[in-house]
Amino acid sequence: MKLHEYQAKELFACHGLPVPGGETAETVAEGLAVAERLGYPVAIKAQVHAGGRGKAGGVRLARNRAEAGEALEAILNMTLRTAQTGEQGLPVRQVLVEKGVAIRQEFYLSILPDRASGTMLIIGSGEGGMNIEEVAARTPERIARIHVDPLAGLQPFHVRRLAFELALSDVQERSFFDLMTGLYRAVTENDLLLAEINPLVFTADDTFLLLDAKAEIDSSSLFRHRDLAALRDDTDRDPLERKAARYNLNYIRLDGNIGTMVNGAGLAMATMDLIKRAGAAPANFLDVGGGANAVMIRHGFGILLADPRVRAILINIFGGILRCDVLARGVVEAARATAVNIPVVVRMEGTNVEEGRRILADSGLELINAVDIRDAAAKIAAMAGRL
Ligand code: GDP
Ligand code: MN
Repeated sequence: MKLHEYQAKELFACHGLPVPGGETAETVAEGLAVAERLGYPVAIKAQVHAGGRGKAGGVRLARNRAEAGEALEAILNMTLRTAQTGEQGLPVRQVLVEKGVAIRQEFYLSILPDRASGTMLIIGSGEGGMNIEEVAARTPERIARIHVDPLAGLQPFHVRRLAFELALSDVQERSFFDLMTGLYRAVTENDLLLAEINPLVFTADDTFLLLDAKAEIDSSSLFRHRDLAALRDDTDRDPLERKAARYNLNYIRLDGNIGTMVNGAGLAMATMDLIKRAGAAPANFLDVGGGANAVMIRHGFGILLADPRVRAILINIFGGILRCDVLARGVVEAARATAVNIPVVVRMEGTNVEEGRRILADSGLELINAVDIRDAAAKIAAMAGRL
């Protein structure tokens, strides 16, 4: 679960980290009131779940009321398109108005669990800011990576090494230990999958400040962070993904046009490979889970049918806990409720498969039965050729 910048800053401030003062606003008038209270200059920043806002015009500095009004007007009416938002962009509903800061140096700093090495990975660079991707691509040696054993935790030598790699001055190094300790604790205590500060700035009055902040919380840990769960803002999320989440379906939108509904993440991955190999592309990942019931099947199928890009559907279910007759009834109900005008291939195997097949055959619907996974692939391949 992603947090907005202002939420991430509040979270980090609770761990003693220095952030610029500011408040959110949803209208120009509200924004101006905040700016007047803070005093100029102010930074006005779009609050959307995507980075790269600065380059896309989503972050502006204002030196007076007139500039602030203009910036607020522009940003609050903007659909932000950045490298991270996709083509359709994200409408800006909220801005953060912050006290403007005189920057002396911009650093990049992030902490994330690194699955490959089983460690907490700290990434830092003395060349932070809006061009960090270019720095990483052109001069990777300017990016420091430090692995921290999660059981031993962050140690002074990690911080000293990072300070050395970032070529910090004596003044900077003095407050760096507290900063790193606070950030590391913020990550571990809140089960963050990512904390990214870009830029961490060293200001004209010689202090560090988290000028930007990104935080992503492990959704699986929300049961033990009730306060953080309340920070969820789904308005930026794909509408079909949001709908799927309401019914406990694991749905992720992809680029292709073959809708898929599968039970079990492993079988779902294998099914997507199968579709790719057949020369087509999946429109989504949808794992209805091992214990899906007819209602979940109906909603899952409904979500696939609601996607205008989907030209054919492949249902691949192994009936273990989920019985094939239950699946078949869910599919038939959903198909009856919606006028299905695209081909649907069903491959199922397992408990009560005979009854399941009979329900599909008797439904009067034009469902294409696949006898096994190979047959399903062949049928989807044939269809992909015709799409
Ligand atoms: P991002 O582009 O989405 O990562 O948004 P950031 O919050 O990182 O802002 C982009 C850039 O705006 C930063 O890298 C800074 O250079 C600049 N910026 C943001 N706030 C201030 C500020 O208060 N003062 C100054 N001088 N620059 C700022
Ligand atoms: Mn940034």
